[in-house]
Amino acid sequence: MALSGLDIYKLLPKTNCKDCGFATCLAFAMALNQKKVSLDKCPHVTAEAKAALESASQPPIKPVTIGTGARSLEMGNETVMYRHEQKFYHPTGIGFLIEDTESDMAVTDAIANINALKFERVGQAISADLVCIKNSSADSAIFLNHVKKILSSTALNLALSVRDPKTASDAVKVCKEKRPLLICEDPGALDAFINIAKGNGLPLALACHDIDEAVRFIDKAKKSGVEDLLINITSGRVSDRIQAYTFIRRMALKKGVRALGYPILAFTASGTPDMELAEAVSYVDKYAALVIVKNRTKEFILPLLVTRQDIYQDPQKPVQVDPKIYEIGKVTADSPVLVTTNFSITYFTVAGEVESSKVPSYILACDAEGMSVLTAWAADKFTAKTISETLTRTGLAEKVKHKKVIIPGYVSVLSGELEDMSGWKVAVGPKEASGIPNYLRNVK
Ligand code: SF4
Repeated sequence: MALSGLDIYKLLPKTNCKDCGFATCLAFAMALNQKKVSLDKCPHVTAEAKAALESASQPPIKPVTIGTGARSLEMGNETVMYRHEQKFYHPTGIGFLIEDTESDMAVTDAIANINALKFERVGQAISADLVCIKNSSADSAIFLNHVKKILSSTALNLALSVRDPKTASDAVKVCKEKRPLLICEDPGALDAFINIAKGNGLPLALACHDIDEAVRFIDKAKKSGVEDLLINITSGRVSDRIQAYTFIRRMALKKGVRALGYPILAFTASGTPDMELAEAVSYVDKYAALVIVKNRTKEFILPLLVTRQDIYQDPQKPVQVDPKIYEIGKVTADSPVLVTTNFSITYFTVAGEVESSKVPSYILACDAEGMSVLTAWAADKFTAKTISETLTRTGLAEKVKHKKVIIPGYVSVLSGELEDMSGWKVAVGPKEASGIPNYLRNVK
């Protein structure tokens, strides 16, 4: 739990000796709290106070990474219960479950299907992160065969869900370069799994019946030197798990309970696609760092990814597109130019309507700090001056020969000033984007 400046002050010697360069211990405490100075600048701090301050400076939820390189999945290091308090940092990882009881051909098809599940929404690429291979067959050779096959056919991160430590160890030898997540399914084999994770530097998920068991397992793993841990509560109904995940997050953030300061792994268990989707969405919403799902269809995964994208969007930074000229269709020097803001939803709504009009057009997206048209206008971010400057900066005059722009109907008030300022002729378009196709087809 983060300490306030006054909490830090209470741990300092309070002698105001000035050896740290600050006039008082309180001033030093405030600077330390704002991370403007390091603790070692005070030579008089006691060992106990130092330990307490260093412990408090650790992230309340341990950062854990699965995989390597650009596609690795980072989890943990969250600092708030609710997004509006600040923001969530690491979007929940989404993984697909593949059981080794599925045939070779079924696995080949499943991986081809999973690899194709990539989408673009409001200008951002969204896709799943991981494949979890489960040793449901309890057969070591079959499991290894599936691990090798999946390893060679997808760039996604891997998780190995196993009961038998020997099978886990053999599988890790095959894929440890990929830094897979090792999921210990058998609490009775915890010591062996801890040794495998430690020996190979892998993250380890501990399947626990309840929170008390999670605390015991984590303590054991930490004492053995394994710190990259995930908590996986396996018992109870969906509502029980959501309650448990919320409790874990609250204890880690609000009470500073280090034993629960680890990312959460959740498996869906619901039997029907709609209930599984509701379950997965609830886990994304309520603090799971990684959710593993059974359903691999497009209609299941897209709404789940969209939910994740929305929840993990920084509330203080609207989704934006680059402020520049966009070409929709086969534009020419005679194509119309529509002006709008760089708020993603506004831009993509306009772009969609232009596309449906079948009239090749330019869209000039002005930098309005990601605000929609009326909001930006009211905030003085979408003005005759900013539009005029964007016209000049983007060199639109070199692309078209008509020197005419169409502005949104809601800001028709800008037309006169914009004409004077830019030298471009200004036409007032429809207020709503839905009116664009009809407008473009009839524009002269
Ligand atoms: Fe206080 Fe330490 Fe600074 Fe002295 S050196 S003023 S004891 S914080």
